[in-house]
Amino acid sequence: MSTVCAVSTPLAEGGLAVIRISGEDAVAAAERIFVPFGGKRVSDMPGYTCTYGRVIDPADGSVVDDAMLTVFRAPHSYTGEDTAEISCHGGVYITKRILRLCLAAGCQQADRGEFTKRAFINGKLSMTQAEAVMDMISARGELSLRSARLTREGRLFKRIDAVKDRLVTLLGELAAWVDYPEEDLPAVEEGALKATLADAAGELERLVRDYDCGMVLRRGIDTVIAGKPNVGKSTLMNMLLGYERSIVTEAAGTTRDVIEETVKLGELELKLSDTAGIRETDDRIEQLGVSLAKKRLDECALIIAVFDTSSPLDSEDRELLNYVRGLDKRLIVVLNKSDLGNAVDEKEFAGIKTVGISAKNGEGLEALTAAASELFGISSYDADTTIFANERQKRCAESALEKLRAALAAAELGETLDAVTVMTDAAVSELMELTGERATEAVVEEVFSRFCVGK
Ligand code: GDP
Repeated sequence: MSTVCAVSTPLAEGGLAVIRISGEDAVAAAERIFVPFGGKRVSDMPGYTCTYGRVIDPADGSVVDDAMLTVFRAPHSYTGEDTAEISCHGGVYITKRILRLCLAAGCQQADRGEFTKRAFINGKLSMTQAEAVMDMISARGELSLRSARLTREGRLFKRIDAVKDRLVTLLGELAAWVDYPEEDLPAVEEGALKATLADAAGELERLVRDYDCGMVLRRGIDTVIAGKPNVGKSTLMNMLLGYERSIVTEAAGTTRDVIEETVKLGELELKLSDTAGIRETDDRIEQLGVSLAKKRLDECALIIAVFDTSSPLDSEDRELLNYVRGLDKRLIVVLNKSDLGNAVDEKEFAGIKTVGISAKNGEGLEALTAAASELFGISSYDADTTIFANERQKRCAESALEKLRAALAAAELGETLDAVTVMTDAAVSELMELTGERATEAVVEEVFSRFCVGK
């Protein structure tokens, strides 16, 4: 593999900049452009040592900068190859000049993520660990940093690997039994077979669920507050916000615009839109509001449907209820104005999570928080759990899960062990793609193209 170089720090003025060289000729290339003080030779430097010296232009011997050089010897480096790192003064011109010297000394410019890709190719990191490196760099908060770090430490890889190992053992037993029936091997016991498949599926299900949960916590939830005019949507929004946001009036239909705000509801962050109702109307302006409201309902992740509990549901309420029921979204029914008594038959909301509140008096927030947390499985979520870093990993796990379920179904229907074997084998392939053990060139390219240069 060629020897590559890149600037690993941002190209901007700063205290220091780091130029990294990795590959077979890394130390030789560094020696061409770096002269240690005190007559030492770069090629004599052992791994994990650094030295102070000068960067020179070998073309004319001119001094470019005073700098530190750190040498790592294969395989004890990030990439697993010989590596040299020059820490120079953090000037844009100096940095570029040293990079050009490295190129002139025989190195090639590294692609995005090339150092981490080499670490992956040289077996220093699994694919999931490599992807976590990028997540650590882009983490914006404690929670995302913590989960990226755990993945970087290999926690996710180990969990996936454990599932895979069990399935591979099972495949071995199945193969032996199918291929050498005359050998008098113990039959693969049906109960144990199903249990192994179900356990593996359960573990993948947990990982997928935790991913959804983790993403919800990281990114917030697109939420729509829906309801006919005057049920108290704006008042509810103000209660959640903790201050007056939209104009609350007695006249029905006042809240016409979609208003967006972000509020914290327990651990959850709701990105709220207060929308107009969805009633049929001849009014052109209202029609526009209605189609906008429907569009938001179709796109959001959580619907809070508000009803006035002090009077029985009317056709407009039912129209909304039927509409949101049909959307297959996470849904909370809020029965507002509980301070005015209850005239609504709760049977109308059978099967839906229902919370009674008085938005005006600020009552019922805890119940609403609990309902939302439960809907998103937050109450059972452990922030230290390892979650997939991205959709690619989750997709692989979901495909594996699908195949395991098919294997389990085949086992339960008493189909031939061949069918079980084929599906289990397919699941193992998906898991190996997840960890990168059997990732295609295209997948590897795609993963590392999302990295920054110099990482
Ligand atoms: P929207 O059209 O759905 O946004 O409804 P508003 O929030 O504008 O509220 C309509 C009217 O209902 C206002 O007069 C509010 O003060 C009143 N209201 C809202 N929530 C409550 C509540 O919990 N109890 C009572 N008694 N009145 C409420």
